[in-house]
Amino acid sequence: MGVPRRAWLHVITGCMSSGKTAEVVRLLTRMQIAGQSVLLITPARDTRVAPGEVVSRTGTRFPSIVVGDTTSLRNEVNRINPDAVAIEEAQFFGDDLPDVLEELAAAPRTVIVSGLDQDFAGRPFATIPSLLARADEITKLTAICVQCGGEATRTQRLRNGKPARADDELIVIGGMGGDDTYEARCRGCHAVVR
Ligand SMILES: [Zn+2]
Repeated sequence: MGVPRRAWLHVITGCMSSGKTAEVVRLLTRMQIAGQSVLLITPARDTRVAPGEVVSRTGTRFPSIVVGDTTSLRNEVNRINPDAVAIEEAQFFGDDLPDVLEELAAAPRTVIVSGLDQDFAGRPFATIPSLLARADEITKLTAICVQCGGEATRTQRLRNGKPARADDELIVIGGMGGDDTYEARCRGCHAVVR
């Protein structure tokens, strides 16, 4: 018998380069040291992730599995039945993600979920706002603004080096979409062409 499980939903959010993956890995490692079993899951749409492993920008590595959608996410967690599950890049999953994660937390189980709270135009992104409302615990991380050195809370999208338009199609942030590049910026330096 290990440490008793608890039902808990922890959302880790913030802009790109804010250290979300490193924080997820820190929390999972902390639980492993206490003898709890953990599972890290990434969405198939996140093309930065090599199958079987998550690597943070600081080089920290952690074993992971890839799932295509929330149905296979639920099936894998129920099959493996870990004490804790963490889901990366949650903005890439469908609208049923909050319901599925609350179900998985009720097992009971610790559910850690990380994702971008805003898209490149500063708009609430996918189901992250709903997850934040349902969370037992929220960690909002900031990065360093590459323009002014301040606290970055936003993800700047650049097309050919210039700020993207708000009505540009929503390409997968971090998915290396086309010629676009992304960088962390503060509210004052974040630019969107409207
Ligand atoms: Zn700035």
